[in-house]
Amino acid sequence: MDTILATEDLTKEFLGFTAVSGVSLNVRRGSIHGLIGPNGAGKTTCFNLLTKFLQPTRGSIRFDGRDITGMKPAEVARLGLVRSFQISAVFPHLTVLENVRVALQRARGRSFDFWRSDKVLGQYDARARALLEDVGLHTHAHLLAGELPYGRKRALEIATTLALDPVMMLLDEPTAGMTHEDVDRIVALVRRVAQGRTVLMVEHNLRVVEGLCDTITVLTRGRVLAEGDYAGVSRNPEVVAAYLGT
Ligand code: ADP
Repeated sequence: MDTILATEDLTKEFLGFTAVSGVSLNVRRGSIHGLIGPNGAGKTTCFNLLTKFLQPTRGSIRFDGRDITGMKPAEVARLGLVRSFQISAVFPHLTVLENVRVALQRARGRSFDFWRSDKVLGQYDARARALLEDVGLHTHAHLLAGELPYGRKRALEIATTLALDPVMMLLDEPTAGMTHEDVDRIVALVRRVAQGRTVLMVEHNLRVVEGLCDTITVLTRGRVLAEGDYAGVSRNPEVVAAYLGT
């Protein structure tokens, strides 16, 4: 198997409480891999460890052939392992197009400068418009980001992540709080952005997980409970019990 991301014995303790415990995760290059589990299972902590927002207490992480365990978040992002941030990363008073232009400018390592915005950001226009087309937001380019409906904001957030040209995207509950229609749109979008990339996603909606994920890792209480395709893990009695809280 061509593994792009591998953790070994990944462990995080908070003041003696073990939130993630001995997790060995292998994500296949080009796959959509789901990380699921009940609340408190350690999914967010795992994401924070992978993107280096937290340092592990123990264990190692390899990405694309390199040991990234000791790296800083910006270094990991430069290697192409990029997390899609929550909506807080979208600037509500800029237009949709401006948000993507700013993301492109930051991706090139330029500091963001409102002062010169028109002149400097103009050069990113064509690429920004192409990214908006990719996520189906081209007709919304001149709306203020703050005025977008929730589902569209998530699409914008994905566009700003794509601006970093990720090799692998970590998506944190991309369909959380969405209407049915928005869920279908995001599912189609994730499938599209996953082409030529690897995606690791935390997702609560099991219908979405079933429809999208090639491989699923189930966490409970910080540990891997099961791993496999949807049919396999959903039939696993331990997984069923963990979800039903029995
Ligand atoms: P999930 O995302 O699966 O709901 P989390 O990774 O957020 O789970 O949390 C796993 C466990 O670790 C929870 O019991 C949570 O309370 C605990 N935890 C997470 N972050 C911290 C922290 N900074 N300090 C102490 N405990 C934490």
